[in-house]
Amino acid sequence: MADFKYELGADGVAVITWDVPEKSMNVMSLEGFALLDSFIDKALADDAVKGVVITSGKPDFAGGMDLNVIAEMRAGGAQAIFDGVMRMHTILRKIELAGMDPKTKKGGKPIATALPGTALGIGLELPLSTHRIFAADNPKAKIGLPEIMVGIFPGAGGTTRLVRKMGAMVAAPFLLEGKLSDPKKARAAGIVDEVVEDPLAAAKAWVLGATDADLVKPWDAKGYKMPGGAPYHPAGFMTFVGASAMVHGKTMGVYPAAKALLSAVYEGALVPFDQALKIEARWFTKVLINPSATAMIRSLFINKGALEKGANRPDVADQRVKKVGVLGAGMMGAGIALVSALAGIQVVLIDAAQEAADRGKAYSAAYLDKGMARKKVTAEKKEAVLGLITATTDYAALDGCDLIVEAVFEDPGVKAEVTAKAEAVIPEDAIFATNTSTLPITGLAKASKRPEQYIGIHFFSPVEKMLLVEIIKGRETGPVAVAKALDYVRQIKKTPIVVNDERFFYANRCIIPYINEGIRMVAEGVNPTLIENAAKMVGMPLGPLQLVDETSIDLGVKIAKATKAAMGDAYPDEAVDEVVFWMADQGRLGRKTKSGFYDYDEAGKRQGISAVVTDHYPQATDQPELTHVQHRLLMAQVLEAVRAFEAGVLEDIREGDVGAILGWGFAPWSGGPFAWLDIIGAGRAVEICEALTAEYGARFETPALLRDLAATGETFYGRYGEGQAATAA
Ligand code: NAD
Repeated sequence: MADFKYELGADGVAVITWDVPEKSMNVMSLEGFALLDSFIDKALADDAVKGVVITSGKPDFAGGMDLNVIAEMRAGGAQAIFDGVMRMHTILRKIELAGMDPKTKKGGKPIATALPGTALGIGLELPLSTHRIFAADNPKAKIGLPEIMVGIFPGAGGTTRLVRKMGAMVAAPFLLEGKLSDPKKARAAGIVDEVVEDPLAAAKAWVLGATDADLVKPWDAKGYKMPGGAPYHPAGFMTFVGASAMVHGKTMGVYPAAKALLSAVYEGALVPFDQALKIEARWFTKVLINPSATAMIRSLFINKGALEKGANRPDVADQRVKKVGVLGAGMMGAGIALVSALAGIQVVLIDAAQEAADRGKAYSAAYLDKGMARKKVTAEKKEAVLGLITATTDYAALDGCDLIVEAVFEDPGVKAEVTAKAEAVIPEDAIFATNTSTLPITGLAKASKRPEQYIGIHFFSPVEKMLLVEIIKGRETGPVAVAKALDYVRQIKKTPIVVNDERFFYANRCIIPYINEGIRMVAEGVNPTLIENAAKMVGMPLGPLQLVDETSIDLGVKIAKATKAAMGDAYPDEAVDEVVFWMADQGRLGRKTKSGFYDYDEAGKRQGISAVVTDHYPQATDQPELTHVQHRLLMAQVLEAVRAFEAGVLEDIREGDVGAILGWGFAPWSGGPFAWLDIIGAGRAVEICEALTAEYGARFETPALLRDLAATGETFYGRYGEGQAATAA
């Protein structure tokens, strides 16, 4: 069975139907493209064909390019990529020119697209090459070019066509941010031409009535001017100057795709259309051979998808949750109740006082109200979601819950008490999960009658925004509990990683050393602005000092005290504590007190680094190099990730990379800590570690695994890319 079907109707319209066998969503392969090409040739050569409609045999049009194909193209090197991309341009350009006479622009065959639903990436670039796009009035459909989200940009003419169609300014959010729209919004923006009930019928009718002039794209007509002005036009000039600054401000220059996209648009705007396609292909090739693109596609698309689909799920029956009990209706509990109800799960939200439980439910009401104000939520939807949440103090309401998520105070005594109370009511086979961020799961499980059914489900704050959920197996946690947690995370549409139980699990284990390294530098007299900028310029969303201001200094004090108590003499962070305890003594607790490493204005808006901090920790005359600061900040996180993998806390580097990007925003351009080490090479990583160890001591010592990879010349993904555990090597 082939990816496309060709059928000539009695009305003279050839319908080319995209319907990739055994897939729920069409994706473009190289073979698919070749077949489409042959069908276009056939239609153009056949006198009986009056026009062509390209459509889909599935509820959606297409999800995009098969990214595995992109990986294959990349393996062939730059020339192979460029040639492959130019072949696609040739086919799409053939569709666009449709056999018309190049001089008179007459005699072409009209080709339209009928989109039943979602059309993404190449699934929109192909329609953009046709003469008219008809979309079904399907509010669930998503239309757009999301390539930038995985570190590439639309390289099959989407960039050049969209800019020529709507102008650089209007196209910017679709290209630079990968903005997706429903069909009506896509029509308002000028991406699709018509939104209709039956796009196939409308497209057929259109091709039968189309005139020669209907087939000539604006850029192929005489006197074409780019909407909003080309770069040398005064208005266009402003657009490009502004866009360049904006892109650099947002990406700090670390995302090669954004920069290349902008260059393709700018340079392409200066030359005729076919030349512009060639320029687009060159920049696309350059991005594709950059290791950042491979790493981003691998982590943010392929592996993220694999984890969401249950790559590491034990083989047990469906464990989807029907009724969840959430214990503790504070900041986390309220968010967990909300995301569960949004997924259609019945929720019992319990707190010690009815008022507190009601406040927790009110959080969902406020969230839905905001959605209604933005016209994203209907009154019925609000009622339905709130109707799923019962806020109460009565544990008897937990009867029938198949999952409990506990989010009471971070205190083992309180947690033990609510565990016992809930277990007295819930079914024997229910799973009990704790949202603790610091307490070992194995210890907390002692309060449970059924430790094999006890597990950690660690959410990040704010729950409704953060994409990652860390699932933690205690020593006795069994496979059904793991499957339950994974199925639940899938229901609430987040990305799971599954890790083993050790201090701070995975995400916090890596993020705490990052914050601490920033704080150490303050004590050493490194300019705090240099520290913060160094972090952002290597792709971290927040500098370490801003991050600790956001999470609060007193939380840092609390964690430091608890860690010290647990570790005794082995505790390595006295230098950090000196700064943090001093800040706490000053009452500078971070954003919540409007004073931390930064100053804040009355409204709580962050200003510059506080003079109180720089007065107390005067800046040294000799400041380190930017890359030196960056190496310290990155290695602090990355070495913890490697150690977590060596120790078996992480069982799969794919989880380590996806978790790092989604959990704490680790430099997404790099594809994650392991992918970053592969990009720089284990040999170079060892050199950096050795230099840092010589200067700062044991915390930068090279992990044995990294040394081993350097010795054999291997990479993490080369050795462990399919999800093998370190201990299995
Ligand atoms: P919170 O103080 O906002 O909420 C805790 C809630 O539990 C309060 O409403 C409290 O009234 C309730 N509670 C206390 N004892 C109770 C009892 N015996 N019975 C019923 N309810 C009781 O705290 P939070 O920030 O929501 O954190 C809750 C848990 O989630 C903690 O274990 C914390 O470590 C963990 N966590 C927090 C974050 C975060 O960023 N805040 C992130 C991940 C995990």
